[in-house]
Amino acid sequence: MELRSYIDEHALDVPSIAVVVDFFLISKDGVVTTTIDRDVDFTTPLDPDAAKCPVSRLLEGDISVRTFARHQSKTKGILYAGEDITVVWRPAFCEHSERCFRQLPQVFDPRERTWITPDGTSAERVAAQVARCPSGALDVRWPEGAPSPGPRD
Ligand code: SF4
Repeated sequence: MELRSYIDEHALDVPSIAVVVDFFLISKDGVVTTTIDRDVDFTTPLDPDAAKCPVSRLLEGDISVRTFARHQSKTKGILYAGEDITVVWRPAFCEHSERCFRQLPQVFDPRERTWITPDGTSAERVAAQVARCPSGALDVRWPEGAPSPGPRD
């Protein structure tokens, strides 16, 4: 709907958009996760002028729109302690979205044996990235007395 509104508002020549939704359950280690993948397809090539708009620049090449169900469980995970913040990772919930290490590689590096280094940047930035984990596999622990993290951005 937001994309359609943007297209209409800027009078772009995009007559139709097809969206296919794939809804399925993944059962892994006794945890069932509802997964919804949305595939967006522009059914006609974009007008050259439309190609200059920020939305179409974002949508160049293959587009993959994914939807994740977020776990709220506080079950135990693996702790990665830093000086100002500790990151908790619950591998059973990880959906391998790659979001953490693509957006904050100085902290999350799956090529390393200890793949999370919380001291790689500020604790606030680490907390903000953890909040973006779509599956709820990541969490943080603040030291006693430290200010609590802000809302998810
Ligand atoms: S962002 Fe979360 S779900 Fe995605 S790879 Fe990292 S830990 Fe796993």
